[in-house]
Amino acid sequence: MLTLLVPCLAVNTLYDINLDMLKQRGICGIVFDLDNTIIPWNSPDLCPDIHFWLNQLSGQGFKICLVSNNGKRRVRQIAAQCGAPFVARALKPSRTGFRQAVQTMGLTPAEVAVVGDQLFTDILGGNRLGLFTIWVKPLASQEFIGTKITRQLEKLAIRLLKSTGRL
Ligand SMILES: [Mg+2]
Repeated sequence: MLTLLVPCLAVNTLYDINLDMLKQRGICGIVFDLDNTIIPWNSPDLCPDIHFWLNQLSGQGFKICLVSNNGKRRVRQIAAQCGAPFVARALKPSRTGFRQAVQTMGLTPAEVAVVGDQLFTDILGGNRLGLFTIWVKPLASQEFIGTKITRQLEKLAIRLLKSTGRL
């Protein structure tokens, strides 16, 4: 279980993701978590820099899809801003939403990376399906109350993983 929380890669920001490295690994699809990964929690709009970064991914040959545990209305609104398909109410760490995203992009799990800010939803779910998991630092400290609780567990897991040299 603990091994499934270990991301394949950990980065500080989205811009630190080495896209060439992903291509070399045969990855041509990227699943993005929404809240605190590409947009601050509760914010209605993508910031221009991230919007630009997401838009240039297709020019680099990547397909993208958003997978969020948030409701359809919000996810659809953000997905429209970056012209991407989406899966809302994904119930991560369930594999179902990720599987749906992989199918939507017409790819296999081995060809897909997932980028998210939470070990217990994005990384755990992505690892369970065999995606290349990328853990990014959360954009904002403001979070959904449920997330605040899992963050405490996440802190414990991080401490444990670090102490055993797995992170
Ligand atoms: Mg998130």
